[in-house]
Amino acid sequence: MATADYELRGKRVFVAGHRGMVGAAILRRLSNEDVDVVTAGRDQLDLRDQSAVFDWFAESRPQAVFLAAAKVGGIAANHALRAEFIYDNIAIATNVMHAAYLNRAEKLMFLGSSCIYPKLAPQPLREEYLLTGPLEATNEAYAVAKIAGIKMAEAYRHQYGCDFISVMPTNLYGPGDNYDPEYSHVVAALIRRFHEAKIADAPKVVVWGTGTPRREFIHVDDMADACVHLMKVYSSSDIINIGSGRDISIADFAALVARIVGYDGAIEYDASRPDGTPRKLLDVGRLDALGWRAETSLENGLRLAYEAYLEER
Ligand code: GDP
Repeated sequence: MATADYELRGKRVFVAGHRGMVGAAILRRLSNEDVDVVTAGRDQLDLRDQSAVFDWFAESRPQAVFLAAAKVGGIAANHALRAEFIYDNIAIATNVMHAAYLNRAEKLMFLGSSCIYPKLAPQPLREEYLLTGPLEATNEAYAVAKIAGIKMAEAYRHQYGCDFISVMPTNLYGPGDNYDPEYSHVVAALIRRFHEAKIADAPKVVVWGTGTPRREFIHVDDMADACVHLMKVYSSSDIINIGSGRDISIADFAALVARIVGYDGAIEYDASRPDGTPRKLLDVGRLDALGWRAETSLENGLRLAYEAYLEER
């Protein structure tokens, strides 16, 4: 595995997407590093606008880039908003990576997603399963955009010698999540739904799908810690998974959220809503070999996420 010894200290570091859950977590993590962080809010810089991005890079000249900006959402958003998901995400990836190349950024990390793997790939998902089979239909547009980003990073390394790396985080949760009842991911959706049911003393809570799919979750602060670690120690065109190494069924997960929130009514399943991929567990062997392991248990992470929800509400 291609390791590196990249000195982040003293560098001008651009966190693209710093107001999103992932970018905000990377920002929190970077506050422990001796770096000069630069950011640009959406009002200031539209990352889909090629000339605006090129101008901003020429002026700001970041040395290291965390490309955490993306249009994201849960299973329903991915399906309904597929045009926005493919357009925004390809535009952001191509504009930022090409600008980083033109302005000779020393290093760039592209953040992908575990949904880039084939729907029915063997589990746990190893990095080499990329592009070995058809994608899950509910998030195909998003996955294709993320695969384009991965291949772009790889191509720029090969042709131009850019030190671009790509990481694939598993399902994330934590502070700064989107709690939209329809478009959120499952963790935020269920924290909110169980909390509101508790307050309203509702007799039942509805969970989408059959409860049988299995998902792996990682707290976003753990993921940010892994990103900063990999930025320093990893340099290769091979993608690298970031996960906790453990998965759980949606039914067991829902029961856990109910317990943490303190809801004791019934849980019902709505099989008219999609299940998505049956299982999504990442193989974290490469990450492990690079000396990083997730610290936060799902139970502790969910407690933190529930506290964050109560604060952010
Ligand atoms: P995915 O990993 O891309 O499928 O992302 P999600 O976080 O949106 O969904 C994960 C799993 O949780 C899927 O099997 C969903 O059907 C299930 N799920 C159960 N209830 C909900 C909910 O209220 N919202 C979402 N987004 N997913 C839910």
